[in-house]
Amino acid sequence: MNAKVITIANHKGGVGKTTSTASIGAGLAILGKHVLLIDLDAQQNLSFTQTKNEDPETSVYDSLVKDMPLPIVNVRENLDLVPASLELARAEIDMATKIAREGILKSLLEEHLDKYDYVLIDCPPSLGIVTTNALVASDELFIPLTAEALPLKGLTMLDDVVNEVRKRVNPKLEIGAVFFTRFNNRKLNKEVVTMVANRYGDKVLNTKIRENISLAEMPLSGQSIFEYDPKSNGATDYMALVNELIAKNRNR
Ligand code: ADP
Ligand code: MG
Repeated sequence: MNAKVITIANHKGGVGKTTSTASIGAGLAILGKHVLLIDLDAQQNLSFTQTKNEDPETSVYDSLVKDMPLPIVNVRENLDLVPASLELARAEIDMATKIAREGILKSLLEEHLDKYDYVLIDCPPSLGIVTTNALVASDELFIPLTAEALPLKGLTMLDDVVNEVRKRVNPKLEIGAVFFTRFNNRKLNKEVVTMVANRYGDKVLNTKIRENISLAEMPLSGQSIFEYDPKSNGATDYMALVNELIAKNRNR
């Protein structure tokens, strides 16, 4: 086994990064894949969806800033988590003076890659050193989007960071998937969908994640969407998305 490492990023907030990381991870684990989730957001939303422990003794912050090993906890069958903590809000500043700071997460992850099929990294809504660390450590970037209001201008910045990371440190980084979340036909902006398709071509997944109340309620339950409401559109859509991803990676 040599894990495929996937960063889920978009510096726009509220586009479904955390919901997608949690739900894709849960779906892969249900299908028997070994998955590690890494929470890189100081808001800790991903960590909260997985554990009730609001203040982990050690978090990814200690690893990034104090060179401690990644604190990996098992949260479900086949599913492990590296939790975030509030201190992560300081990581950008605390890492700023470190040598080769963009590669810290990559080197921390190396010894764990043979234990997993997938590593999924949830990012903060910014394009700083923390998100760059995720991209440097990754094989692929997944970009969740909503179909409202002009997302493309902001995406140019994300594309620029990806190109920069590719050029300077991680030439193998690819955009692996672009997908719509919180989708409903009422808000559907056909123009946006067409523009995204023109820009990202076959990277755009067929599966769209519909707006779904169970997905909005799920975080408070501490359950995955497949446990909280297995018959919901949210569970159906994320399982379809997971199957579409696996079909693209037949070798895994
Ligand atoms: P991000 O991590 O990009 O900020 P989140 O995954 O936290 O985005 O989603 C933002 C908010 O929208 C959260 O309250 C979440 O529960 C809700 N949400 C996410 N996806 C959906 C969906 N498909 N339908 C309804 N609500 C959603
Ligand atoms: Mg989030």
